[in-house]
Amino acid sequence: MTSITLINPADETMIGEVDLNSVDEVDAAVAKAVVAQRLWAALAPSERAGALRAFAAAVDLDIEHLARLEVENSGHPIASARWEAGHVRDVLTYYSAAPERLLGSQIPVAGGLDITFHEPIGVVGIIVPWNFPMTIAAWGFAPALAAGNAVILKPAEWTPLTALRLGELARRSGLPEGLFTVLPGRGDVVGTRFVTHPDIRKVVFTGSTAVGKKVMAGCAEQVKRVTLELGGKSANIVFADADLELAATSAPGAVFDNSGQDCCARSRILVERSVFTRFLEKFEVAVGRFRVGDPLHDATQMGPLVSAAHFDRVGSFLDGVDVAFTGAAPSGPGYWMPPTVVLPKSLDDRIVREEVFGPVVAVIPFDTEEDAIRIANATEYGLAGSIFTQNLSRGIRVSRAVQAGNLSVNSHSSVRYSTPFGGVKQSGLGRELGPDAPFAFTETKNVFYAT
Ligand code: NAD
Repeated sequence: MTSITLINPADETMIGEVDLNSVDEVDAAVAKAVVAQRLWAALAPSERAGALRAFAAAVDLDIEHLARLEVENSGHPIASARWEAGHVRDVLTYYSAAPERLLGSQIPVAGGLDITFHEPIGVVGIIVPWNFPMTIAAWGFAPALAAGNAVILKPAEWTPLTALRLGELARRSGLPEGLFTVLPGRGDVVGTRFVTHPDIRKVVFTGSTAVGKKVMAGCAEQVKRVTLELGGKSANIVFADADLELAATSAPGAVFDNSGQDCCARSRILVERSVFTRFLEKFEVAVGRFRVGDPLHDATQMGPLVSAAHFDRVGSFLDGVDVAFTGAAPSGPGYWMPPTVVLPKSLDDRIVREEVFGPVVAVIPFDTEEDAIRIANATEYGLAGSIFTQNLSRGIRVSRAVQAGNLSVNSHSSVRYSTPFGGVKQSGLGRELGPDAPFAFTETKNVFYAT
């Protein structure tokens, strides 16, 4: 077993070492999970519901601890990290109702009785990225467990601490041994083994589109079930008839929250040409007010980037571009980058086409509604987006025409545990969250009983 040294991205101090698991350790965890899953699925639904409520209660008591771990490990502002830990509790609570609500159906047929059952898939492997280590893990493990599966979770190399803590809380709250195992490790070792192991029957992958394609191709070998939550290049469309103050003051949070390391970041702002200059003036004021700094400060809205390597990658997008203005940022140590607003020269610029995953936004003028829709859809991605207009008909028309899984009109809302989330085109496959998520962790069995 090798290990990895974890660095606090806000000040570059060392915060600890974490062991990285090997293929043999994955195999041992899967063997235990297979046994645990059979026992778990055989429990009464009310008992599984109770166990998930106990897990949620353990998370609730640990919110401050989880939040501080996330601040130290990932650089998230403390207020966001507290929200994330609370969201994990809420996701668990929401899906604790699912074991008793996985309703099958009785279908009218001739000559007998026809019934569908939703049976667990078995062992589910969940691979998560470093940007929201707790919440994205919970979107997978809570409905998977609720549907009667066992889960093995691989956090990203650099950000394993909150996932490990959630594993500990699961054990302490009484979830059966082997049912929920957290295995830090390299993507090309532990992640790849999730894909190739014959007893892992479904993989939930959240991460880059490039790796997602490899995971999907690998899963095809065994016709393994797969859910993919991938990259994004979402548009925030501001029409001239919008409440410009609302559009401009809400736009920084929509792209710079979590330092832009957000798959739903509205990293392209499309503004109708007649209000382009007025929007930019208001946006500059709002960006100047966006509070970047000490992640442990309650009022901080944006912390550092996650790592030195990612800092360099984001910086590479700024070579040769026209920066209109920036916000403020500490000078270091730490991986600090200010909120940065760019006016691209062409729609073919790299900054317009590729996911930056950092605090950089491209602002682009458009002339007509058709123009706005065409530019919004001129991307291989389709995860999220926002539309600002006071014309209800236009809001409906444009929200139906933009190719994305999650849109909001006159807001930037993307994620609620009770509504479905996921991408179209190369942003992903399948949906997480919402009432149907547990069904994605089941196989539908149809049985005809001749009478
Ligand atoms: P990444 O693809 O590099 O890594 C994601 C995870 O996959 C990590 O745990 C990594 O160790 C693992 N991995 C790497 N290679 C692997 C392989 N060959 N087989 C199996 N697993 C492997 O992504 P990242 O840099 O950690 O995260 C950023 C990306 O995640 C961005 O593109 C972002 O848009 C995306 N993301 C998407 C969503 C969504 O819900 N759609 C949410 C958050 C992040």
